[in-house]
Amino acid sequence: AEASIDSVTASETGASFDAVVIGAGFSGMYMLHRLRGLGLTARVYEAGDGVGGTWYWNRYPGARCDVESVEYCYSFSEELRQEWDWTERYPSQPEILRYAEHVADRFELRRDLRFRTRVTRAAYDEAASRWRVETDRGDRVTARFLITAVGCLSDARVPGIPGAGSFRGESFHTGRWPHEEVDFTGKRVAVIGTGSSGIQIIPVIAERAAQVTVFQRTPNFTIPAWNRPLQPEYARWVKENYAEIRSTMRDSLFGIAASFNTGSALEASEQERLAELEARWAHGGPGFLGAFGDTAVDPRANELVAEFVRDKIRRTVADPRVAELLSPRDHPIGTKRPCFDTDYYATFNRPNVRLVDVRATPIEEITQTGLRTAGAAYEVDTIVYATGYDALTGALLAIDVTGAGGASLRAKWAAGPRTYLGLMTAGFPNLFTITGPGSPSVLSNMFVSIEQHVDWIAGCLRHLAETGAAVIEAGPGAEDAWTRHVGDVAAQTLFPLADSWYLGANVPGKPRVFLPYPGGVGAYRVICDEVAAKGYEGFVLS
Ligand code: FAD
Repeated sequence: AEASIDSVTASETGASFDAVVIGAGFSGMYMLHRLRGLGLTARVYEAGDGVGGTWYWNRYPGARCDVESVEYCYSFSEELRQEWDWTERYPSQPEILRYAEHVADRFELRRDLRFRTRVTRAAYDEAASRWRVETDRGDRVTARFLITAVGCLSDARVPGIPGAGSFRGESFHTGRWPHEEVDFTGKRVAVIGTGSSGIQIIPVIAERAAQVTVFQRTPNFTIPAWNRPLQPEYARWVKENYAEIRSTMRDSLFGIAASFNTGSALEASEQERLAELEARWAHGGPGFLGAFGDTAVDPRANELVAEFVRDKIRRTVADPRVAELLSPRDHPIGTKRPCFDTDYYATFNRPNVRLVDVRATPIEEITQTGLRTAGAAYEVDTIVYATGYDALTGALLAIDVTGAGGASLRAKWAAGPRTYLGLMTAGFPNLFTITGPGSPSVLSNMFVSIEQHVDWIAGCLRHLAETGAAVIEAGPGAEDAWTRHVGDVAAQTLFPLADSWYLGANVPGKPRVFLPYPGGVGAYRVICDEVAAKGYEGFVLS
């Protein structure tokens, strides 16, 4: 009820704030809380009609987090972590959304949030050292600091398939799912895309629909999640040991507590290797990729792990031809966003599920009644686009941002984003980008990365207040060095071998640049802390 009161609030003209925050997902919510703690005024604009970001938009059946619930949550409030009880090992979308709403209520965030309001333009006024911010509802406000919390995976992408507009049935993108339940009972459904969202939604639709046709361009490796109710003793143990667990997560590579071995897959005997992989497969979840230290850097080590998963596919999928089609051979395991599933491969044994290889026979057209490939026509009632996002830069560049001298961010990043630490970009003073490109972001449990960025920004704002500086900006030299460093670290891994959204490969025309920082959240945190300790080395304060 409170949300709808907020969303009918009249637009504001001329109001000024210490900070404007864009986005009310977990980044924007925590940022607001910290800004208040610093005694700063803030306005948060959110395009959706509620909090939760990703978990507000992604209401598709089967939507679930791949990080364990006890790890995928805030750590900043002892009361919050003690009072909240998760119910499953991996939280479902409805449960995460309830958590977001609980946080909004508990910290009384809503009074500074404006829903159904999209920031369209932000221009830095150098003379006043203030950002002028405009929204699609006519707000015109100013702020000293502009903080983007727009999400790495919030700019949903529907491929431009010819004829899409003529389709007479219903179509949905997983990341813009309707609030009402979509009934698949007895329907013929096409699912386009087999990334994380496709892998989650396909088994659930297959249980209800008359027929599911899966249009696959790139087969993906997926590891069983083995979701189950959260055991109360385990949940209690986590609460008692939270500080220690969280500190392990913060120092880790990916922001999760699972142990990552450093040993070599090549040096282990076949028996040792299989035992380790079987144990991790049986445990399920992201820890599987931590079986060996060289999987991410050595193609031969990687192939041993990849072949283990292909063997699982062959053992699960009855039709050898389908099993082969589902087996990834064009990229090393772990170089695309890892997927975790419930019954994904087994779903292809169902009589009502069929797989279409669109690499061999591309979708040529969407017609009034279905899809047509080079090989055949498929009549369907519903099309589900599980086609992902313009990741890391899409939502940011959707805003017309201009910095000092009227320079546009879109122009500055035309050949790929350039940032210092993924936190700021030169020429755009007092603009902070939470989980921006060049920071670990999507290569981590995002809660760890979000809290680290928000805490760092809050520390920076306190430093500015204490030293009387009005403006902070990334120095161009530091930005060049960091951008180079991100590319250099990526080049030492197998990541560049995959046509992934980490590299922008899913968006036609997007420059091929490795977007997140692959150095690990622990190492990255040390770098950020050292920069701050050295008086914000590499930044220019004035
Ligand atoms: P978001 O949650 O994306 O929130 C950004 C908000 O900004 C959105 O609500 C959007 O509407 C708003 N916004 C954007 N532009 C504007 C604008 N111009 N004006 C106003 N509002 C704007 N992460 C994990 O760590 N583990 C997982 O297992 C995991 N699973 C995921 C599964 C899916 C299907 C998706 C899509 C993402 C998943 N993520 C996962 C990543 C997830 O996005 C983050 O964990 C986290 O929710 C990001 O929070 P955020 O606040 O930074 O961004």
